[in-house]
Amino acid sequence: MIIWNETYRELLSHAESVRGLLNTHCHHMPATAFENPTLHTLMQTTYISWSNPWYPDVPEARADFITRNASNSYFQWMARSVGSLYGTGVPLDAANWGVLDMALRKAYASPGEDIRILTDKCGYASIILDKYDMPGNDIGHPELFRPAFRCDMFLHGHSATGKDQNGSNPYDYLDVDCTATLDEYVEAIDRAVAAKKNAGCVALKLAIAYERDIAFENQDPKKAELALTKPDTSAVRDYQDYIVHCLADIAASHGMPLQIHTGLGLLIRSNAIGLRTLIGRKPETRFVLFHCGYPWMDDVLGLLHNYRNVYPDLCWLPLISTSAAIRFIREALEVGDATRLTWGCDTWTSEESYGALLAVRHCLAAAITPMCEEGLVDIAYAKHLITGVLNGNAAALYPFDNR
Ligand SMILES: [Zn+2]
Repeated sequence: MIIWNETYRELLSHAESVRGLLNTHCHHMPATAFENPTLHTLMQTTYISWSNPWYPDVPEARADFITRNASNSYFQWMARSVGSLYGTGVPLDAANWGVLDMALRKAYASPGEDIRILTDKCGYASIILDKYDMPGNDIGHPELFRPAFRCDMFLHGHSATGKDQNGSNPYDYLDVDCTATLDEYVEAIDRAVAAKKNAGCVALKLAIAYERDIAFENQDPKKAELALTKPDTSAVRDYQDYIVHCLADIAASHGMPLQIHTGLGLLIRSNAIGLRTLIGRKPETRFVLFHCGYPWMDDVLGLLHNYRNVYPDLCWLPLISTSAAIRFIREALEVGDATRLTWGCDTWTSEESYGALLAVRHCLAAAITPMCEEGLVDIAYAKHLITGVLNGNAAALYPFDNR
């Protein structure tokens, strides 16, 4: 996988030298959320745990865990990350697990270690935080985290007790109650977004692909209103579609991009092409398509090609499948331009965030090396492309300077 030739090495070293990184998506959990973190508990909090049953923290189980997962992209980058953060750079294996575990425990004995990794080791200048259980929160670190305002809950306002998948009720965030008309409700969302922007938020976020499909067709308020009096499945669907159209307008009017989770999720019509109608109707809204729609990356490439208001975000992708990310980066640069591709770690722990950074640096160098060697771009332009993904493109896309 890793192409150890001169061009690759030069591009990788450029990616490593880019400073003031802008990380567009993260769910960071502060170290205080862990009681005495160990390498074992850390593994349980990363994506690796999604596809692995719990295992006891004993040498035989660790060895078995590694044998099963050594080809897995989540594991690959986590192993490199902890090997670099807590050892000599040799990726985690059964032999060095104990030594790395001890070093990690020692590091976490001093408070603030998780934030130090993000600022000093990763070199992030700003991180867009999606604290989905507390929408718009910066977990007490406004100097580093700029919140995205998760708006899934607003799709449940047809019911006084409606909640999104994380338990958020829209009326806890609005200055109206459920007796509001649809117009009053949307105006209240607009005021809530304005207040969040004043408090430092830089984006709106929808992860509704974990709850329903993302084909939002209805933009007629009359149909949406039916959900307030007769909330059957079809009326609720029309209501939710309409609210998403309103959120797209609200995002544009406040100069904030709308980040939308695409691809994985329910896996039933969660592919990005479902957004085509909405994207076409809202040319003033900048749509950031998370995870590049994996595994339906071609949907995002088609939308990128046809719509200038589409911005693919690589977040999570290099960790899901490193080779898929390499393929996507090259095609996105070919069908789009140098300015629209961005990246975020999409992780809960600092260790996995650093692994995600190692992964995207590798993916950028590996995707662009052949473009250099085929004579399509020169090395200076290749470096410009890499800087754009890690820093410049997000700086232009998000209102980081709004406070
Ligand atoms: Zn995420």
